[in-house]
Amino acid sequence: MSFRPCWVEISTRVLEDNFRFLQSLAPAEAELLAIVKGDAYGHSVEVCAPALAAAGAKWLGVTSVEEGAAVRALCPGARVLVIGGVFAGQGEAALANRLTPSLWEHWQFDEIESAARAAGAAPQSIAVHLELDTGMSRQGVSLEASGTLVSILSRFHPASPLRLEGVMTHLYAADESDGAATAGQLGVLDAALTRIDELGHWAELLSVGNSASILGGQAGALAALAARHGMKLLLRPGIALYGVVPRIEPELPDLSDAAANLRPVLAWKSQVVSVREVPQGAAVGYNGTFVASEPMRLALVAVGYADGLDRSLGNRFSMLVRGQGAPLVGRISMDQTVLDVTEIPDAAPGDEVVLIGEQIGQTISAFEHSDAAG
Ligand SMILES: *Cc1c(COP(=O)(O)O)cnc(C)c1O
Repeated sequence: MSFRPCWVEISTRVLEDNFRFLQSLAPAEAELLAIVKGDAYGHSVEVCAPALAAAGAKWLGVTSVEEGAAVRALCPGARVLVIGGVFAGQGEAALANRLTPSLWEHWQFDEIESAARAAGAAPQSIAVHLELDTGMSRQGVSLEASGTLVSILSRFHPASPLRLEGVMTHLYAADESDGAATAGQLGVLDAALTRIDELGHWAELLSVGNSASILGGQAGALAALAARHGMKLLLRPGIALYGVVPRIEPELPDLSDAAANLRPVLAWKSQVVSVREVPQGAAVGYNGTFVASEPMRLALVAVGYADGLDRSLGNRFSMLVRGQGAPLVGRISMDQTVLDVTEIPDAAPGDEVVLIGEQIGQTISAFEHSDAAG
């Protein structure tokens, strides 16, 4: 069967190149954990996880146990870190799929521990990562009251089936190049690692650093912090793998290099369905939010908000037709959109329409969608 002409193209070759480029920016002793949460940022985890593993990713990161089980089926040899927490009743599935949970609540430890005991796991045979809240106030062990860390660390004792393999935290402003917020978080992290050491614990891995950390040149400092505590750095890039270069503000001069080396993995395309002439004064689309100011040529395109096109882009976006930007006029319908092709006289049914990607030297990036949508 053929399909309604609205599709995305995913280049696994570009994804693999992007992974290798980010690896080249990381210090030699650091490892990359490729984030594939959210269906690989909407790029299809089925397509992307095996490609990243083929490019050399030994670690993959997902939000949930459900996502982890899907990745396990695709990549039998990968380490899979669950960053979003393990929920009640999921311990058994987490262990059966050999997932590595990131934990910070006692009830999460209870969940994994009881599943491990039920499975007859030997002492310290299940590797887990401990998440610390170094300033994002979203998840992780709170470091405000010193007793919380002590109490959580007491879960790692010789008879426990759990072993502390990694300490993890998330940077909430790695895209701010003045680095003040990040410096504050790293100070808190450094002190927490010292405290963990004093309490007689050690983890092999320090898991910190997203795309902006790597592109903003912070990876060296993160690796040095890890080395000071006898740990190995695990960097966790996500969006940059897919070729969307995070904006770092104020702008960094060397980021243009990265922008040139990282290429978008995804293109989104549709086709012109029909073309019509309308007279001056014609209302276009629901509620006539656009009225033709002169006689115009309009092209109907087979894409709408049900396909993921943000409805707020009505009257404030352009798509590419024959290498030219064609303004989107009127409201976006569920499965259809209308473009003004008055300035593209050859536009005809069957023409390719690009929503994200390249056409005859012109490009539209995902950022243009998010900017237009606010
Ligand atoms: C999403 C996420 C990442 C990746 O962030 P990017 O900005 O996409 O590189 C890393 N770590 C955690 C905990 C995340 O939630």
